[in-house]
Amino acid sequence: MSAASGAEAHFRAEFGTEPAGRWAAPGRVNLIGEHTDYNEGFVLPFALPQRTVAAAGPAPAGEWTVCSTFAPGAVSFGTTSPGEVTGWAAYVAGVVWALREAGLEVPGARIALDSEVPVGSGLSSSAALESSVLTALIDLGGLDVPLEQRPALAQRAENVYVGAPTGIMDQSASIRCQAGRALFLDCRSYEVKQIPFDLAAAGLAILVINSNAPHQHVDGEYGARRKSCEEAARILGVPALRDVPFDGLDEALARLDDEVMRRRVRHVVTEDQRVLDTVALLEQGRTREVGSVLTAGHASMRDDFEITVPQVDVAVEAALAAGAYGARMTGGGFGGCVLALIDADRADATTSAVEQAYAKAGFKAPTCWIATAGPGATRL
Ligand code: ADP
Ligand code: MG
Repeated sequence: MSAASGAEAHFRAEFGTEPAGRWAAPGRVNLIGEHTDYNEGFVLPFALPQRTVAAAGPAPAGEWTVCSTFAPGAVSFGTTSPGEVTGWAAYVAGVVWALREAGLEVPGARIALDSEVPVGSGLSSSAALESSVLTALIDLGGLDVPLEQRPALAQRAENVYVGAPTGIMDQSASIRCQAGRALFLDCRSYEVKQIPFDLAAAGLAILVINSNAPHQHVDGEYGARRKSCEEAARILGVPALRDVPFDGLDEALARLDDEVMRRRVRHVVTEDQRVLDTVALLEQGRTREVGSVLTAGHASMRDDFEITVPQVDVAVEAALAAGAYGARMTGGGFGGCVLALIDADRADATTSAVEQAYAKAGFKAPTCWIATAGPGATRL
């Protein structure tokens, strides 16, 4: 069953009535630009066809009740502040809170959720959830919130209410992506540009390989990387590492004493450049050539930023050995997914190659599927 019918059926079962509407928001995969968001640099995600759907209907003012096929039972809350609602429903309460904090009159609502986005795999089920609920509440209440202001509201829900320190990319992708396009996002100005990304037309495809590796120490490692980048920016006297120019990298590195910090900076500065290079190649229709940029990005994450694990390294190597034009881990690291740019007719062969490499290494089997660029958040 699709998430659209799933959410609707769940709404009926929980509330004994029909929803007023259904709002969908996608998960995303980041084509390139890893750990650049909090350095105020560039990212290039595209939306997945997999979506979270919120079926929603009205409730009395100041009353919200949410349920999800993800967990049993329903959660009710009133006008709420961070810390009050916990668990998965905090993502929903956070959206209500962020909208109210922005001075908007959020309508009371009943909401039932269902999702096709794998949870906790780095495909951003959390942003899909926030974005579907945000879009539903804005529509139900007839609120005037321009598209470009919406991602920051959803991000605030996750950062402040849920307490998860994430950048602006996930919510921007879920809300602002368009079908057949990748979203070039400047994480400083929040300006976006839609980049042509119709792989099928070029006979190409993106194979997503979920490493199914258990995420370990993610929060601590993320915090450590972020701190190292902020410290480096301070030493270099720039507002953020985005301000270290690519052609001034060697000069900047020479001013840093710490070897680990030098490598962290090198990753961020070269990664920003790789995003720009990828955008230029896609705009020129030179899609195959994006492959080597992706692979260089993986090496940088593995050697300089040190955020890969053996499962993702093996997947990248196996995909490349099977003829992929390029491959890299996508997402924050320490597990999650790999994406490989391949000829469209090489999906099965590449999948088998990765499965065999995993079996040989004694890893839990990966999950592989082809990703296409779907639309952003919308009313169905
Ligand atoms: P990711 O965003 O990479 O999938 P996160 O840890 O950021 O992983 O977010 C996952 C969390 O988001 C889940 O543990 C759950 O609390 C919440 N979540 C995601 N999808 C749903 C859903 N359909 N229903 C309820 N909660 C969800
Ligand atoms: Mg998330």
